[in-house]
Amino acid sequence: MAPNRPDIRPSLGLRPIINVSGTMTALGASIAVPEAIEAVSRVLPEFVEINDLQRKASAVIARLTGAEAGYVTASASAGITLAIAGAMTGADLAKIEQLPDASGMKDEVVILTGHLVGYGAPIKQAIRLSGSRVISVGQVTMVRSYQLEGSITERTVAALYVVSHHAVQYGQIPLAEFCRICNARGVPVIVDAASEYDLKGFLAAGAAAAIYSAHKFLGGPTAGIVAGRKDLVRAAFLQNHGIGRGMKVGKEGIAGTMAALQAWETRDHTTIREREREHLTLWLDRLRNAPGLHARIVGDPTGNPLDRLEVAVSPSEAGTTAWMLAAELARGDPPIIVRDHEVANGHFFLDPCNLHPGEAEIVVDRIVSTLRALQGQPIQDVSTLERRRFAALSQWPD
Ligand SMILES: *Cc1c(COP(=O)(O)O)cnc(C)c1O
Repeated sequence: MAPNRPDIRPSLGLRPIINVSGTMTALGASIAVPEAIEAVSRVLPEFVEINDLQRKASAVIARLTGAEAGYVTASASAGITLAIAGAMTGADLAKIEQLPDASGMKDEVVILTGHLVGYGAPIKQAIRLSGSRVISVGQVTMVRSYQLEGSITERTVAALYVVSHHAVQYGQIPLAEFCRICNARGVPVIVDAASEYDLKGFLAAGAAAAIYSAHKFLGGPTAGIVAGRKDLVRAAFLQNHGIGRGMKVGKEGIAGTMAALQAWETRDHTTIREREREHLTLWLDRLRNAPGLHARIVGDPTGNPLDRLEVAVSPSEAGTTAWMLAAELARGDPPIIVRDHEVANGHFFLDPCNLHPGEAEIVVDRIVSTLRALQGQPIQDVSTLERRRFAALSQWPD
């Protein structure tokens, strides 16, 4: 460990995990960039006029996204709820206080069925928290423009579009076409782009608002960014006097997000990509000869400039399964958490974007040794994994 990174985890009694799963809320999201850490610690002891701080954040968000305005809220999930609420109420404070009772307001939100994702909680619920209703369009893997056109009524208040690896990746309406149809009918399109590196493209494609997480690729503190049309951003911001109160962000979240955005502008993306490529090459070279493992470098499903190593486990050759290997890595010392959402399909991924120096080597050594240790152990069904997880969760805090 780098001497300039005194690890707080042992003093909290926490396991020092190595994260090769990507930016996961359940693991503390990302390694915050030094600029954000400094801004957070410098603003915490001071009083600030929060709305002025948000005004400054608006200017930074506008510069990076090309939006007219922006503001910072508690999370991307909060941003979804509040942007929809803003579309429902406009800047009318009486209506803002009335939510989630939507009487007298337009209250239908259209979303493609293939976009009804979960990111730890169902996106449907983030919509419904505003008081609006979910109108899903088309079938999971097939939706046509006429279905979207037909689902828009005089009650439609907004359309939500999800750009994410969680969403179905084929058979959907492309964003530009989605925006063309909605904009022609005066329905604002709100894009959930929580994990997407592209800060400009979704607004440029015609969306009224795009929503990002500050704590994912940006390396900021836990917060959400709403960028978009000024009237809509203002209406979302004003929800702080209504349902947004319980989703509020503090001065540290706003200042840290501004610093992370500014750091993103000047970050040396090429060097970071090269370092990630070195980790991937190291892993690929070392795992190539491991019995029963089949590794290859794969691109990001939504086109973010990020590659991962896909590690497929052939049970007949390896003597174990992908999920058992992943679970054993997570149980070990130090725990190594791989990207396991497709583990039931016989593979997991190694994500190189959240590593401290020296960790890439530990990861590959442990995969090789754990694979060897698992050989000869009885193969269990993958449903064991879900059962174990649920049992642990339901017993919390014990
Ligand atoms: C992570 C994520 C969210 C939730 O973001 P938070 O900022 O953690 O609330 C929402 N949508 C998608 C697509 C995500 O990946």
